[in-house]
Amino acid sequence: MIKIIFLSLLILSETLMAQDIEFANNIYFKYQNYKEPTLTSRRFRQSDILPLIDRLREKNIFSVNKVGESSRKRPIFLISAGNGKTKIFLWSQMHGDESTATGAIFDIFNFLSRDDEFNGFRNDLLSKVTIYFMPMVNPDGAEVFQRRNDFEIDINRDAISLQSPESRVLKDTFDSLKADFGFNLHDQSILYSAGHTFKNAALSFLAPAENFEKTISETRSDAIKLIGKMNNILSSLIPGHIAKYKDDFEPRAFGDNFQKWGTSTILIESGGWKDDPEKQYIRKLNFVALVSAFNCISNQSYKSEPLETYDNIPFNEEDLMNLIIRNVSFKKNGFNYKADIGITRTEFNTNSCKDFYYKSSVEDIGDLSTFFGYEDFNFDGMEIQIGKTFPQKFNSVPEIEKLNFKKLYDEGYTNLLIDSSVFKEKFISLPINLKYKDDEIGDSNMKIGDVPNFIIKKNGQVRYIIINGFLIESENIPTKFKNGLLL
Ligand SMILES: [Zn+2]
Repeated sequence: MIKIIFLSLLILSETLMAQDIEFANNIYFKYQNYKEPTLTSRRFRQSDILPLIDRLREKNIFSVNKVGESSRKRPIFLISAGNGKTKIFLWSQMHGDESTATGAIFDIFNFLSRDDEFNGFRNDLLSKVTIYFMPMVNPDGAEVFQRRNDFEIDINRDAISLQSPESRVLKDTFDSLKADFGFNLHDQSILYSAGHTFKNAALSFLAPAENFEKTISETRSDAIKLIGKMNNILSSLIPGHIAKYKDDFEPRAFGDNFQKWGTSTILIESGGWKDDPEKQYIRKLNFVALVSAFNCISNQSYKSEPLETYDNIPFNEEDLMNLIIRNVSFKKNGFNYKADIGITRTEFNTNSCKDFYYKSSVEDIGDLSTFFGYEDFNFDGMEIQIGKTFPQKFNSVPEIEKLNFKKLYDEGYTNLLIDSSVFKEKFISLPINLKYKDDEIGDSNMKIGDVPNFIIKKNGQVRYIIINGFLIESENIPTKFKNGLLL
């Protein structure tokens, strides 16, 4: 008898799991219907979302309330939908340059207010749960696309001191809601891998600890189970691309304290995806993960998920680089040797903050067989040289645009000299770097931290060029190339 009950429960839980995955697949394939079309990249300001928030006031399923202001007097909103007993609270972008989930929240607003085949789901959901959204907790940081707020304080280390107005708004809202579930939405480095693999961590989770002992209280256990469910659901879409953070207790962070204060809190970090610099695919995954989580909370299917599912999610590891070229030959001091070169790219804001440029650096040289590149090439049999600076000075960019880049590369040049009075930018949209003066000391060393500018030859012929860490084929030189630098 007990065996039969156990088996029926098992079958029931597997059926629920299959339904949850089917639901996630449905919204994944229909996502385009809900994607907010005015948000097209990661770089948007509060002025871009204010009209969208205004639009929500006209839809009767939402209640829109201004609950506070940033230090620069930008409003902070709490938007809710539903009238169910279980409360879910989501807040995004307390780090101003971590906007991926904010985009997904506006997609969710579109999903919740649409009239289509998901009406049954919506009605059921919103009768069982009430969902509270606080998108863009740090609008001043978002304005200049920086992590910290206008006081240069990291809001996520201000949960106890509460010195920032944004931190107080978040804490007061938390206190007034006493939500059952909390979603703390962030972005992480795109260079995390899911375990020691070549697979990038597209989404990473954490059920933050609530003390240094990492006790698994009932509150935290529910967060752990729900993450297990989200992991299973997402694994059907992006197998191997989900990771988790280490659960060291951070006494100053919001997530850790909210867990301690009784809300089952889940951290979601948006990572990277190949060829998706604006993280729009990761935004879609956020949409699926969050709506699926609402579904699992509302049908309570998370309750049957074993804690081991969470334990088995691999940790974030730092095994990825943007570009690795392997087995290239060097000549140095009469030695010939082979090594791999690992290159990473850092994003810098341009003056407009809506745009950015990359500056790359040589991250490592040697045996990089334990690392993986988003772009990863075996250049066995090829020789590498550091790019030289062409000795003649140019007086304008149009003059440079007319040059034969292939010829310059064949002669070993990756940099040109230009008059500082005619070029004021930090980067140039040409496949070559600019310099104000030739300060090279011979063709010298390749050093860790250098900007990677190389000529790569096979049998004496140039095959590849690396400009600011971006690889160019000599037979396919791009006309549009954003990544030339002022060195
Ligand atoms: Zn963050």
